[in-house]
Amino acid sequence: MTTPRPHLIIALLVALSAPANAQPATPKPLIVRVLDVGQGDAILIQNGGSTVLIDGGPNATALGNHLDALGLNGGTIDAVILSHAHADHYQGLRELFATKRHITVRFFWENQDVSANSTLQKLRDSIASRVHAGSLTYRDTDDPCANGKPLCVVTLKGGAKLEIMRPDPNGQDPNNRSPALKLVGPDSASFTMWMAGDAERDAISFFDRAPYHPNPGMKVDVLKADHHGSCNGVSDAYLDLLAPSLVVVSLAGVNDYGHMHTQAKAMFRKHHIPWYRTDRNGTITLRSSGVPGEKFTVDVERKGKSLSGPGDKRSKDPSCTAH
Ligand SMILES: [Zn+2]
Repeated sequence: MTTPRPHLIIALLVALSAPANAQPATPKPLIVRVLDVGQGDAILIQNGGSTVLIDGGPNATALGNHLDALGLNGGTIDAVILSHAHADHYQGLRELFATKRHITVRFFWENQDVSANSTLQKLRDSIASRVHAGSLTYRDTDDPCANGKPLCVVTLKGGAKLEIMRPDPNGQDPNNRSPALKLVGPDSASFTMWMAGDAERDAISFFDRAPYHPNPGMKVDVLKADHHGSCNGVSDAYLDLLAPSLVVVSLAGVNDYGHMHTQAKAMFRKHHIPWYRTDRNGTITLRSSGVPGEKFTVDVERKGKSLSGPGDKRSKDPSCTAH
């Protein structure tokens, strides 16, 4: 019998924690680090001993430096999610499988779309070899719980939940094959965060049509800006649905795309949403104490809010000209 059972993931992740009927004795903080990896995304989530990595940034050295600094070598990463098949998201992930690091990866999600890229092929070789060895479970974001349903909930050992919503099956561009991820703190009233890789207009309207608006709900405290602050990764409707109080943006100060686009910044301002950005602020750390009623905190390596960067440009994308 090879068909995975729908609740397998939850059961396995919870299995390392206290017995199912026991409550944690003390609140377990939820810590989200939007890592400064240059032009790309890499987001590390830790809660109660569970570790999740979303994307790995554009190069192995940058991610490797963070793995060293955070003491993750020799440990376990319970879940890795590659949002989509672009190098600024997958390239660094190869470092997880470097023999010298002795890192165990338990679950790996990606959309598994066909790709001729040799680096992605090598990453997939590493995944396949660990699947063969029995140490890793490989999941498809198009069927995230392997039960035919569009939504899969992964429960971390401290009680936080990561809701994985399948991407648009008809997405015409790798960016628009990014899934939506909603991170919910142990106390959902204290912290929620939305991360949708590089999803652009077509994909973000799909999330509403899916519909993820009523379930699991799109209203969040923090939005990881889609597509590094590109104007095509945001819309009035999207911000109305998400209604974040803070945006975090992962990018390099000087990049080939003019991120952050001035139209995106104007839209965030119009909705009265401040932002932090990794190129100016360094790694952004969000922390929810797990104590009911306590507001989450934000720490940045370099201060300054809603800053502009040296490479920010106005996009000529016609779909953004109205903004
Ligand atoms: Zn990207």
